[in-house]
Amino acid sequence: MEKITMEKMVNLCKQYGFIYQGSEIYDGLANTWDYGPLGSRLKNNIKDAWRKRFVQDNKNSYELDAAILMNPEVWVASGHVSSFSDPLIDCKECKSRYRADKLIEEFSEGKETGDGWDNEKLKKYIRENNIPCPKCGKTNFTSIRQFNLLFETHMGVTEDTKNKVYLRGETAQGIFVNFMNVQRSMRAKVPFGIAQIGKAFRNEITPGNFIFRTREFEQMEYEFFCKPGTDLEWFKYFEEYCMRFLKDLGIKEENLRLRKHKPEELVFYSKGTTDIEYNYPNGFGELWGIADRTDYDLTVHSNHSGKDLKYLDPETNEKYTPYVIEPSVGCDRLLLAVLCDSYEEETLEDGSTREVMHFLPSIAPYKVAVLPLMKKYHQEKAEEIYNMLSKEFMTSYDETGNIGKRYRRQDVIGTPYCVTIDEETLNNNTVTVRDRDTMEQVTIKVDELVDYIKEKVRF
Ligand code: ATP
Repeated sequence: MEKITMEKMVNLCKQYGFIYQGSEIYDGLANTWDYGPLGSRLKNNIKDAWRKRFVQDNKNSYELDAAILMNPEVWVASGHVSSFSDPLIDCKECKSRYRADKLIEEFSEGKETGDGWDNEKLKKYIRENNIPCPKCGKTNFTSIRQFNLLFETHMGVTEDTKNKVYLRGETAQGIFVNFMNVQRSMRAKVPFGIAQIGKAFRNEITPGNFIFRTREFEQMEYEFFCKPGTDLEWFKYFEEYCMRFLKDLGIKEENLRLRKHKPEELVFYSKGTTDIEYNYPNGFGELWGIADRTDYDLTVHSNHSGKDLKYLDPETNEKYTPYVIEPSVGCDRLLLAVLCDSYEEETLEDGSTREVMHFLPSIAPYKVAVLPLMKKYHQEKAEEIYNMLSKEFMTSYDETGNIGKRYRRQDVIGTPYCVTIDEETLNNNTVTVRDRDTMEQVTIKVDELVDYIKEKVRF
């Protein structure tokens, strides 16, 4: 199947109410995006699927919703204030700005990522390989300097440095600082996990590629606390667990790959990191990062706050700082992968084409559409059926235009089932249900409709 281009995806998302440019009537704000009625439904459904898999399915899993604004000391302890930065480099000729590591990654077609390299090593590689500016083609770059990604703001009425706070750069720290609260209040036993879905903010040097890299985005993070020595086993477990989740969401296996970080790419405290990459319209890119973070986070917070964050094993009486496995996925990047993977421009038997979003039914924005065949005769019954279905599912209602066109619109927004109300409905209390993917139609009794659809849209 041919890949959709990013430009086409951006247009389709706007046209059908998935995603609009942010602040559009004011000429936009660069790289900000607003989720429309269908996009916000899709996003919520993806979050619900993740929540089901990472919280509900595990009895030793807990969800948290921590504040975005945190005591600035959190970010000092975690190392974000001193080193949450990207290497910035400018072209002296055309003034374009780049992330030095991404410049190398693109130039080497992914063979080198520049991850974990210091400024010297990055600069040397760029010089030795004569990497040109992707925009003007010249090779006249500035030196590399580190640019901190944390957004700063002020709390309270005066804008002095004492009141400086940060918009969180990741959701993980809210979990680490609440480790003891959750463990004690939930009487949790190691190993256990804490999940959090929420916004994170990074003043990215080169945002772009639609919602792939933005300065405001949502993360779905899971911190799994385990006994030291068992961490590598759990690390492997989560690599597989995350991969399975993506496949169960309907993402095609051939568009996914694992990229294990080389030892020199790892941050000093990590024992292992693997990215799950997706084949986006512009090529493979990181979708999900899975890292063995050892006891680094709890140790730095314990040292910096002066609070004991060790776990006391009630069975063995052993006291230790748990190790952490962190699978962290961007909700927006996952949504983009789902959109790209689901799209098909299909040629039908009669030679005509249709656009379809083959979303897994459980994450489709609308589960079902109610379509009266002829408004004049079937509207009343259709509304009755809409009222019945909408108590159970997100239901679309469409009575305008010919039935063929209405089916096409539901296809492109990914509604898995269309229910048509016609004379048979009035006479026999049956409806036809059309399947989005096969386009086959079956006759179902109105009394059995809710159960029929319920069975098909479960995750
Ligand atoms: P990258 O190398 O692409 O900048 P990262 O390694 O810094 O990403 P992490 O800090 O591991 O990313 O964040 C976890 C996940 O959050 C990523 O796998 C990605 O899905 C998502 N993510 C990170 N930065 C952004 C962003 N600017 N916009 C959208 N999603 C993001």
